[in-house]
Amino acid sequence: MLDPKKVKNAPFWWDEAPRPTGQPPELPKEADIAVIGSGFTGLSAALTAARAGRQVTVFEAEEPGHGASSRNGGGVGAAPFKLKYSEAEAKLGREGAVRLFKEGIASITHLEHLIESEQIRCHYKRSGRFTGIHRASAEAGLRKEVDLMQDRLDLDVQMVSRADQHEHIGSDYYLGGRFNARDGVVHPALLHQGLLERAEQAGVTVLAHTPVQSVKREGATLTLQTPRGAVKANKLVVGTNGYTSGAIPWLERRFIPVTSNIIATEELDPALVRRLVPKDNMIIDTKRTVHYYRASPDGKRILMGGRPAMREAHWSVSARMLHDFMGKVWPELKDVDISHAWGGSLGFTFDKLPHIGEHDGIHYAGGYLGSGVAMSNYLGHKMALQAMGDPAGETALDNRNFPTMPFYSGNPWFLTAVAAYYRFRDTYG
Ligand SMILES: Cc1cc2nc3c(=O)[nH]c(=O)nc-3n(C[C@H](O)[C@H](O)[C@H](O)COP(=O)(O)OP(=O)(O)OC[C@H]3O[C@@H](n4cnc5c(N)ncnc54)[C@H](O)[C@@H]3O)c2cc1C
Repeated sequence: MLDPKKVKNAPFWWDEAPRPTGQPPELPKEADIAVIGSGFTGLSAALTAARAGRQVTVFEAEEPGHGASSRNGGGVGAAPFKLKYSEAEAKLGREGAVRLFKEGIASITHLEHLIESEQIRCHYKRSGRFTGIHRASAEAGLRKEVDLMQDRLDLDVQMVSRADQHEHIGSDYYLGGRFNARDGVVHPALLHQGLLERAEQAGVTVLAHTPVQSVKREGATLTLQTPRGAVKANKLVVGTNGYTSGAIPWLERRFIPVTSNIIATEELDPALVRRLVPKDNMIIDTKRTVHYYRASPDGKRILMGGRPAMREAHWSVSARMLHDFMGKVWPELKDVDISHAWGGSLGFTFDKLPHIGEHDGIHYAGGYLGSGVAMSNYLGHKMALQAMGDPAGETALDNRNFPTMPFYSGNPWFLTAVAAYYRFRDTYG
């Protein structure tokens, strides 16, 4: 049942990792390295720069971690691109595609190292990811991707028959699928909280409620204007992704903000949850209007996510659509209550790839297309190294042509039509 009066319109994750409160510190006059955005990208960049001895100030429009980093599904993926491996090989050649996808694997290795070395308690588990086949015509494409990924990337990824899919999902909804053992799950808000604590311990100043309104460049110096005053910076790195605003119009024209929503069920019998998600793995599917879901870290709830509308709709509309879908996958959950429902914005790009680079003296990373938990931490770290001139910051994604579209200035008016088209293709092939 979905009774909007009983539902908390806030991420389930925030119950265990509440949003930081309190007044921001005084505005400094200058910063060695200024960071815009306090999500995974911004904080990873800040931590790396502070550990290298730089004086770092993070500007955040809302409270720290307000964006996608504390709201996401917590799925950690080793092949985090919207571009399929076969598409990447057709576009970039075999060597280029392998280099690109190895960055995906590197991002997960980086995240695991970060969690372990910084001792961040965030329920990380390398429990894998099951991708369910939603219609027969999707099977051949998935099999081709599995063959290529085994051959080119040596990834532990397998096709799963319909008879065996109960090892990964207690449902007959799908026609089999794929299991990627290298993937995992994490509690994203605890990961964010840990990262924030480590960054502050390393000397980073985090200025909550301090939106950057504009950036001006004079020679090598950048001036960031905020409602609280101006700050001069030697270097600027930007991690605003799906929340990019007009402060940096060049980036706003390149990121497409897409809304994603999640619901959490009320507490269920843990034995039931274990039957539905036996390995604590992430579950997604082959649909264009993808769903992503999992058990909560305490094994008592199901968290069901998706992008039903792609654009911001009232949370109860998206929640209803997700609840309906959950009842199709697991008829036994058709009538369960929902305790939390929330949404957030993620960054898409016109070429279906994340981007990292420098434009007009401003370093940027983003466009993770819904798979940014590992990639944002990785590219945030790399972006800081690049800003400091460290060759270890090099990646296969550096300074690639970053396309926009004529007349696009950050308002994705076309997404409603795209979502309708995706639903049509998912139903009729
Ligand atoms: C509902 C949802 C589910 C998702 N599920 C998954 C998943 O399961 N797996 C996965 O890998 N990825 C997932 N993602 C994507 C992932 O969460 C993001 O890719 C990642 O968190 C991006 O991190 P970020 O630091 O770049 O941006 P964000 O965490 O979005 O942070 C950007 C910050 O910039 C701030 N900001 C913007 N403009 C300004 C300004 N002018 N001045 C100051 N501050 C500013 C914003 O307030 C915001 O806090 C999901 C995203 C959403 C929304």
